[in-house]
Amino acid sequence: MATQKRPLNLLIAAPRGFCAGVDRAITIVELAIERYGAPVYVRHEIVHNKFVVDSLKAKGAVFVAELDQVPDGVPVVFSAHGVPKAVPAKAEARGLNYLDATCPLVSKVHRQAERLVENGRHILFIGHAGHPEVIGTFGQVPEGRMTLIETAADAEAVMPEHPDDIAYLTQTTLSVDDTAGIIAILEKRFPSIKGPKGEDICYATSNRQAAVKEIARRCEAVFVIGAPNSSNSVRLVEVAEREGVRAKLIGRASDIDFSWLDGVTTLGITAGASAPEVLVREVVDHLQERFDVHEETVAGVQERMVFKLPRGLEAA
Ligand code: SF4
Repeated sequence: MATQKRPLNLLIAAPRGFCAGVDRAITIVELAIERYGAPVYVRHEIVHNKFVVDSLKAKGAVFVAELDQVPDGVPVVFSAHGVPKAVPAKAEARGLNYLDATCPLVSKVHRQAERLVENGRHILFIGHAGHPEVIGTFGQVPEGRMTLIETAADAEAVMPEHPDDIAYLTQTTLSVDDTAGIIAILEKRFPSIKGPKGEDICYATSNRQAAVKEIARRCEAVFVIGAPNSSNSVRLVEVAEREGVRAKLIGRASDIDFSWLDGVTTLGITAGASAPEVLVREVVDHLQERFDVHEETVAGVQERMVFKLPRGLEAA
């Protein structure tokens, strides 16, 4: 007699997974391979997801850490996280054909940083040390014109030389709640601080955080599909945990440890902005092998954002 499977309710967050910036960056690499032929070099992981990187490698992309590893005469793509100004300058000096896959929402922060510094302001940049987006944004302005603020404690301690001439900007993939706390401290300490018009935290990051909050309220545990170096995926784990549930980051179905689901009757699932939908389906299918799954999508805001391709690839 076949053993009966234990029931498991799945609440699947929406929106989840790919954002318009990630979609655009992947399309740029694919179109570049189509147009110029393999190999096309990519500086850094195009987006923080091993599955995506491996799929592009199979199509003819070669991923490198620095421009020095790109041979002369082959095209190179810069990742969605953005690059310091020195990188395109170096590519131009070498006569390399480069395509910039920087997300337009990251480029917007770059332009704001430039303008603020031109207007004589020192920038307090809220972000995570070492993240490629932070390195790219710092690289838009001369050294010493930006100070990194990682935590509320940093915001309490920072002592700008000219406190009346400062501004803040943020990384695009931060925790909405934590960042609001940090900004509140800065605004209290420096009443004349200038902030960005609208949000620097992007629509995809805030929508995915709101959606995971929604499912977390109704389940006991949450899987976030994403990579450990993906800032927005790690934030989704933290947001779910703050709602009082256990949350775990998994790369894909094979990472699931079923003992972690002991006693769980309702499981939430979401995916970071760089995780493809195919990995979500793979996780659901894997759970179906073990459980009698009842699947429900919990729909939040609808996303319709699409970004233009760089000139030259549009017609491809
Ligand atoms: Fe752009 Fe936001 Fe996606 Fe990053 S997470 S690529 S900033 S839309």
